[in-house]
Amino acid sequence: AIEFQDVGKRFGKHADPVLDGVTLRIGAGEIVGVIGPSGAGKSTLARLINGLERPTSGRVLVHGRDHGGAREKELNALRTQIGMIFQQFNLFNSRTVEGNVGFGLQVAGVPAARRRERVAELLEFVGIADKAKAWPAALSGGQKQRVGIARALATSPSILIADEATSALDPQTTTDTLELLRRINSDLGTTIVVITHEMDVVREVCSRVAVLSGGRLVDHGDVYDVFDRPNSEVTRGLVRHAV
Ligand code: ATP
Ligand code: MG
Repeated sequence: AIEFQDVGKRFGKHADPVLDGVTLRIGAGEIVGVIGPSGAGKSTLARLINGLERPTSGRVLVHGRDHGGAREKELNALRTQIGMIFQQFNLFNSRTVEGNVGFGLQVAGVPAARRRERVAELLEFVGIADKAKAWPAALSGGQKQRVGIARALATSPSILIADEATSALDPQTTTDTLELLRRINSDLGTTIVVITHEMDVVREVCSRVAVLSGGRLVDHGDVYDVFDRPNSEVTRGLVRHAV
């Protein structure tokens, strides 16, 4: 599980808080959406989960552990537990598909033979086994995102964070990618955090949703309840916009 306990985050002593009093629990095996206007603090929340940022106040627990004071070595161990995928895919253009997917394993010192096996298995799982030798530049957006997902899954993370992972994709490719996320959740038991501005994405894959606005958690709960009976004007606006 991931737990935010009264988390505050500011960049600089006198800056306005980017996150303010956020208390949120994401249970193991859930698919949770995080939505909110631009600048609400969604990506910052993601970076707090994988230890790229530290809270200014409060605590972030991942699997019951607070990595607030953790050293780089522990943080690296934490990050192998957490996969991330992005809107712009963030692939290494100078590496083939195989090279991209196997990168984390290579860094972790996994022997080449075992790595090849694992990469083949991952490419099969995400449905692009035929693209192993291709270069990122030769792939469609949907294929690039599959490479990103395979790379994120390489170290068998228990948590996958998708930060606007479908925002650059067309509707059909978005549907296919969401289908893959659902399969990752059901087959591998991965907890998935879906950061998005697309309400349809939340409706399609998430069981629960959290709404951030100006760094505050203004709504959270079951998707159906939150969208049906929003607590906040911000949520009402997002839902209305989407209809
Ligand atoms: P978007 O929907 O546009 O991606 P977001 O909800 O992901 O927005 P964040 O990227 O978390 O928002 O940013 C929240 C606020 O924190 C913004 O005002 C941003 O400028 C600020 N911020 C984020 N990272 C830093 C940083 N490293 N230094 C200073 N300010 C930052
Ligand atoms: Mg963001």
